[in-house]
Amino acid sequence: MDTSAGGRHELPRRAVLKAGAVTAGAIGAAALMSGPAMAQGPGTDAVQSQWRWCNRCQCLFYGGGTTTAWCIVGGGHDYGGSGNYIVTHTSGPGQAGWRWCNRCYCLWYGGSTSDGRCHNGGVHNRNTSGDYRVSYGTPPSGEQPGWRWCNRCYCLAYSGNGTGSCPAGGGHNFSGSGTYYLPYG
Ligand SMILES: [Zn+2]
Ligand SMILES: [Zn+2]
Ligand SMILES: [Zn+2]
Repeated sequence: MDTSAGGRHELPRRAVLKAGAVTAGAIGAAALMSGPAMAQGPGTDAVQSQWRWCNRCQCLFYGGGTTTAWCIVGGGHDYGGSGNYIVTHTSGPGQAGWRWCNRCYCLWYGGSTSDGRCHNGGVHNRNTSGDYRVSYGTPPSGEQPGWRWCNRCYCLAYSGNGTGSCPAGGGHNFSGSGTYYLPYG
């Protein structure tokens, strides 16, 4: 059980379990942030902007690099119309265990033993990511509700436009997800 969550949003045990079984011992963040993939990755800042919503697959991905990676719909993710979302890294409020995939650039839940399904084929890669946090419950003012964890691809996706397109085929399945929210600028 992860006990590092805290700050202004104390997380009930019930909700933590909703994204899967959390493994003991969070993986250290900064030490893992190396390798060529990070040239286009989100880096190690504790508070990171440039995360974007893809208007095709509905997933949240890091859009601050030189490419938009790979979307299951084809080509790169398309963040036309997206806000500039902010995701916290290493510390801060929210549920730990989220990861950036260096293949599809999405934020996905890596706190269980499954690596989900990647937009770029196969499963997500967790090896060059730090430990991200995503809050859930009742959002404070200025933060956007409607984000959900997909129990098939493990991505964080926006649920307000239907189910989008899932790397596991068809639409995302948000059954069992907590009610996540994100700050944006
Ligand atoms: Zn996409
Ligand atoms: Zn991926
Ligand atoms: Zn999915």
